[in-house]
Amino acid sequence: MATERTLSIIKPDAVAKNLIGAINSRFETAGLSIVAQKMLHLSQEQAEGFYAEHKERPFFAALVEFMTSGPVVVQVLEGENAIAKNREIMGATNPAEAAAGTLRHDFANSIDANAVHGSDAPASAEREIGYFFKSEEICPRG
Ligand code: UDP
Repeated sequence: MATERTLSIIKPDAVAKNLIGAINSRFETAGLSIVAQKMLHLSQEQAEGFYAEHKERPFFAALVEFMTSGPVVVQVLEGENAIAKNREIMGATNPAEAAAGTLRHDFANSIDANAVHGSDAPASAEREIGYFFKSEEICPRG
């Protein structure tokens, strides 16, 4: 298995509930290292650009409104199989369908306010990491 990086976002609902530390703890306990992290309040333009692939979906406007409703934490997670491992830690998109012990099961209330984002494939991870971080802002573990 290869060491990978993935882009994670702790969404406005989870930040508002003071869950940054609890969520980071789940990542670290599972063996993912946080190699870059910053807090941002996304502009409409930033949120629309990040979710551009969903532009035609019926939930797009609500998603952008939610993602700009409060601060988020954007972060790069690094580790063995990091992309799939983070998706497992997150759980299904709809918290009602997420397995017990996953972030979305434990911390999210609805499909639109679902606590976290995680890249779903190597190509999206590369694009999403580059969307928020310059290479010198990432501090790999030795
Ligand atoms: N989303 C939504 N309604 C839906 C489907 C998705 O509000 O019916 C939102 C939800 O916040 C989700 C995001 O759009 O996390 C991106 O959707 P995707 O299918 O990529 O899910 P994810 O990769 O986040 O699990």
